[in-house]
Amino acid sequence: TETPVFRGENRAFTFSFEFFPPKNADAEASLWHSIQALSVYEPEFVSVTYGAGASSRAPTFAVVQRLLKETRLPTASHMTVVKSTREETNETIHQFRDAGVKRFVALRGDPPGGVGSAYSPFPGGYENAADLVRGLKTIGDFDISVSAYPEKHPESADRAADIAMLKAKADNGADRALTQFFFDNDVFEDYLNAVRRSGVSIPVLPGIMPIQNLRQLKNFAAMCGANIPAFVEKRFEGLDDDAEGRFEVAADLAAEQIQGLLDRGINDLHFYTMNRSKLMIAVLERLGVQAPRPAAGASSATGVMQRA
Ligand code: FAD
Repeated sequence: TETPVFRGENRAFTFSFEFFPPKNADAEASLWHSIQALSVYEPEFVSVTYGAGASSRAPTFAVVQRLLKETRLPTASHMTVVKSTREETNETIHQFRDAGVKRFVALRGDPPGGVGSAYSPFPGGYENAADLVRGLKTIGDFDISVSAYPEKHPESADRAADIAMLKAKADNGADRALTQFFFDNDVFEDYLNAVRRSGVSIPVLPGIMPIQNLRQLKNFAAMCGANIPAFVEKRFEGLDDDAEGRFEVAADLAAEQIQGLLDRGINDLHFYTMNRSKLMIAVLERLGVQAPRPAAGASSATGVMQRA
């Protein structure tokens, strides 16, 4: 197959980058380095995750606010309904809107007792993500993304229940869905067909997770019901003491998966960056994606960290 052309008229695919609020000063420096390095690739949007409850507001708000002030990147804030009344969630939405946020990723969030424990809506709070989508729509004309689970959410009784929730979110006004990460494109295609059969027509963007650390990802994947296929694990065999080898494999795997999706006509993707740029850039380079050259006379390497 031909290498996809990214720039110019034949831009073959679009993508967004997901980040999370940093936990300390080192992580903060590393996040902003990554944002600067990745912003030159002109993502459709970037998004910043949100934890649970009122204590999550400040860290997400700080990142979102700086993105809006210092970059031209279209910026989405994730929003969850866990541990908050409707009034509290609405107040947060108003605060973000007043700071210039026009895009949200609307989520329920994980149960306060941790992933896997039973979920019950907070008294007086939004019931679930579909309810939050409706609430957001009454507050402003936001662009709204929601989650989707090609391998089913662990709490869903079955795929039909899972897709029914996606349909409720779409019916309430969601503009697109971003999927949980997966590695088997057949699973995604099968899921997408089922989604379309159920009458959901919004775009469903595959969530791509370049593997920074296989062991950590295995623990995480087990919690969120995502499968790491044997063919993925096999590629890392014998590389326990070879960080460079693992990096190359991770970049190859993600690029191969994306190429496979492009071959199936899927042209819009969402990337889990884990706040890192190096592996992400290696993946994009393998696909022939090049950062545009800075304009002559641009005063910074990117020109992007300055406000338009
Ligand atoms: P929903 O879409 O409301 O539900 C997901 C599925 O679970 C549904 O299909 C439904 O069938 C089932 N379900 C929901 N509630 C119940 C119930 N009470 N009983 C039985 N089944 C039920 N988490 C964060 O905390 N912060 C983030 O920023 C964040 N960002 C995310 C971004 C993406 C792209 C994705 C895919 C996930 C993200 N998550 C985030 C994780 C998410 O919050 C969890 O997966 C959470 O458990 C479900 O939230 P949701 O919005 O996907 O739920």
